[in-house]
Amino acid sequence: MKKIVILGSTGSIGKSALSIISQFPEKFKVLGLSTHEDIKTLKKQVTEFNPEYICISGKTNVPKNSSFRKTKILYGSQGLIKLAALKKADIVLIAVVGASGLLPLLSAIKNGKKIALANKESLVIAGDIINKEKRKYKSQLIPVDSEHSAIFQILHNKNINSVKKIIITASGGPFKDFSLKKIRKITVNQALKHPTWKMGPKITVDSATLMNKGLEVIEAHYLFDIPYDKIEVVIHPQSIIHGMVEFIDGSIFAQMSYPDMKLPIMQALSYPEKNNIKIKHLDMKKIKHLDFYGVNLKKFPAFALAVKAGKIGGTMPACMNAANEIAVYNFLNNKIKFHEIAYYVNMAMKTHKPIENPDIKDIINVDSSTREFVQKIIDMDK
Ligand code: NDP
Ligand code: MG
Repeated sequence: MKKIVILGSTGSIGKSALSIISQFPEKFKVLGLSTHEDIKTLKKQVTEFNPEYICISGKTNVPKNSSFRKTKILYGSQGLIKLAALKKADIVLIAVVGASGLLPLLSAIKNGKKIALANKESLVIAGDIINKEKRKYKSQLIPVDSEHSAIFQILHNKNINSVKKIIITASGGPFKDFSLKKIRKITVNQALKHPTWKMGPKITVDSATLMNKGLEVIEAHYLFDIPYDKIEVVIHPQSIIHGMVEFIDGSIFAQMSYPDMKLPIMQALSYPEKNNIKIKHLDMKKIKHLDFYGVNLKKFPAFALAVKAGKIGGTMPACMNAANEIAVYNFLNNKIKFHEIAYYVNMAMKTHKPIENPDIKDIINVDSSTREFVQKIIDMDK
């Protein structure tokens, strides 16, 4: 019986994880759950899964509540750090959104945990530190992101020196066929309708700008310890192939399935075992064709900005990520236009002087100063 802690259980990944866990009561026991503010959903999850601990990260106290009677309640960001470090936990699934995942992730690593990582932003902003700490504390990071899960599975028991390149696929998002003129008129509702995946609002917008793919390039660089020139991105609108690896002998391995996050989540929770989960299996006879083409950098500048930040390194990815988070939330609140997300990310990166080999304090400082800077500029512009 594996004891699982889920940070961000009220989100899209968190709910999918709980839905799998409920299919395997003999394999998994929920030890801890967290929400930022969605106490209503958390209450339902507590009633169903009866965890020993919960954390409400967006509040510092909550009025007494009979649903939480038998549960130890933690609060705020410190609460998340404690939840990620629970001695009894076998696996910590980190499924909070944005840079808020960083300190809980480091806390899980320092406690030698096996970590199922959905929260890509933490690896993007502090990949070098995370990898160093991971080696020091012998913690294990298993990707939940579907592309990285695919590549992780293909690379299992393979020599990394025999890899020529890894290939990350992208659906292209809802606007892949839009003209530049049409992109300027995109509404929030349009951006929140992803053609192949159902996800939380921030990553759905990131998928529409292709920022998500840029973040995933950096994520892959750190997860697989692979140089940027060995990472390729291809648009694959059907989202059937999630990731590929080309080996030096010219053979390419691909991982295929219908797009459903339950598969990579289960893969991370039960690794190295495989389990029979209730999802629709691929019927090859129904797949008429699989298409692939390159990224249009003119239409999707956010992708190139993210990759550029990754290659510069230091605190540049933290700056890029913070600017993007603020720009996306302003877009979701109808304060800026869709195409302005990349504009503000570019502006923040242009003014930032990256610190080489930053420590965690440097990264947190750049994260918060960039947020302030970008919000101020947006408020002045609008
Ligand atoms: P959601 O927005 O659906 O859920 C986010 C979760 O984090 C919720 O539980 C939310 O609580 C909580 N949360 C929000 N803000 C904070 C904060 N400041 N501090 C702590 N917790 C917070 O996101 P997703 O589930 O879509 O994504 C989660 C992570 O997984 C992201 O990093 C994303 O990039 C990654 N990912 C997601 C995929 C997907 O299919 N959804 C695929 C691949 C990666 P509340 O409910 O109260 O808001
Ligand atoms: Mg992905």
